[in-house]
Amino acid sequence: MYAKNAGRPCVQNYDLVVIGSGPAGEKGAAQAAYFGERVALIECGDILGGACVNTGTIPSKILRESALYFSGIHQRGLYTAWTIRCAKGLTVKNFMHRKDVVVATEREKLAKNLAAHGIELVRGLASFEDAATISVKTSRGENLTLRADAVLIATGSVPHRAPEIPFDDEVIFDSDSILKMGSIPRSLAVVGGGVIGCEYASIFTALGVEVSLVDGRDRLLPFLDAEISACLRERLADLGVRFFFGERTTQIERVQEKVRITLQSGQTLETEAALFAAGRRGAVDKLSLEKAGVALNKRGYIEVNENYRTAAPRLYAAGDVIGFPALASTSMEQGRVAACHAFGFQYKQRLASMLPMGIYTIPEISAVGESEETCTEKGIEYAVGRARYPNNTRGQIVGDLTGLLKLIFAKSDRRLLGVQIIGESATELIHLGMMALESNMALDAFIEFVFNYPTLSEMYKYAAYDGLGNLSGHKLREG
Ligand SMILES: Cc1cc2nc3c(=O)[nH]c(=O)nc-3n(C[C@H](O)[C@H](O)[C@H](O)COP(=O)(O)OP(=O)(O)OC[C@H]3O[C@@H](n4cnc5c(N)ncnc54)[C@H](O)[C@@H]3O)c2cc1C
Repeated sequence: MYAKNAGRPCVQNYDLVVIGSGPAGEKGAAQAAYFGERVALIECGDILGGACVNTGTIPSKILRESALYFSGIHQRGLYTAWTIRCAKGLTVKNFMHRKDVVVATEREKLAKNLAAHGIELVRGLASFEDAATISVKTSRGENLTLRADAVLIATGSVPHRAPEIPFDDEVIFDSDSILKMGSIPRSLAVVGGGVIGCEYASIFTALGVEVSLVDGRDRLLPFLDAEISACLRERLADLGVRFFFGERTTQIERVQEKVRITLQSGQTLETEAALFAAGRRGAVDKLSLEKAGVALNKRGYIEVNENYRTAAPRLYAAGDVIGFPALASTSMEQGRVAACHAFGFQYKQRLASMLPMGIYTIPEISAVGESEETCTEKGIEYAVGRARYPNNTRGQIVGDLTGLLKLIFAKSDRRLLGVQIIGESATELIHLGMMALESNMALDAFIEFVFNYPTLSEMYKYAAYDGLGNLSGHKLREG
């Protein structure tokens, strides 16, 4: 493709050059190529798919499924003759097996998608010469030059490795290297109670690992509705997680085969492994952004407008490299919006206003719209309707005896304001609430709908009844 001309590589011209093959890059590239633009995608890693396919979203979700399977956690208490399948003796090879299979399939799917769209894949490290010219250093040491009418930067993020933490990827891990652990430890300290920390804490505790979770704040995932966050804490405590809230680490050392962590309070934890899940930062180091006229904001991310355009007019950025919310779900859409804007497609001009949040802890959580706390902060008069999984027939059948679906709605006109769910299939169930929010629906609509029976979705109807009951003061007797 890059014919050499008197020892100098040809410059190739494209309508769009995309840097990075994660969800933002793949979907942005496919969107432009679908409508006939000539697209090249540059990827510096040996494998396609970025953090989403290889180290983040997909591996952690498969490990969650593997943990549920090997621990038999869903069946606990459901079948009297059931002896809990204990994960003791489980090898990393067995635990990781399905992850390896699914990740390989996802990489293949991605390569096929690029090929199907006629996107040219360029393997190598990209950096800017100017806003329209990109050099690529290939693994074979060749230098290529690509010139583009528009560029989409989708280089993602990398785990933040604080210098005071002696990462060795043997017993002290970050969220990337944990996937390479040599054996399943008997005990694990998780430092950082954000989404990634909570997800891994619940996966390992389900496997029977003694998990200690250290966080500087006083509750889990403070951006969640407080009732849901408290439910999560209770469930994780039931599974065996020990919490160290309001704590910071002051010293982290490897002592022979163990990790010793000293906390600000003076307590020490000694565990067989430690996972530091304390944030990520934009992957911008190698890009020479200054040559393209793109500056970073105070948090180290690329600043964009609502069309994902940077300060340079034909230069776009999407995904983790622009910071919050840094999810695969939003990254894909941002990439598509950027491509649509760059080429003036009359389609997908903005990111949807309602963004669902999915947290794959055990149990899983999902939320969209307002929480009780955000309503209070905004001075919105609201009421709440709840439906509990154990009161739902499907909830009983699948054995979720603790889950909760919560509808938050306006007191004045019963318009739905937010949905908060903790329990089985929460991340699937949320979409019905999201559609209702997007359509400005009032609670009454759930009462009118006929739901399949038995389903978890039916909880929307009973939460609506509960909400109307709370509003009118007409409550059924308990028990
Ligand atoms: C443990 C974990 C769990 C997660 N779970 C979820 C979840 O359940 N749901 C969800 O929606 N999100 C989840 N996320 C977040 C999600 O993985 C990211 O938001 C998403 O991968 C970001 O996509 P991206 O395209 O911006 O970047 P990435 O997926 O990081 O891809 C960036 C790509 O760019 C390449 N690159 C970087 N620099 C260069 C360069 N100079 N030249 C060429 N190529 C370059 C990289 O090699 C990489 O392949 C999770 C993340 C982690 C870490």
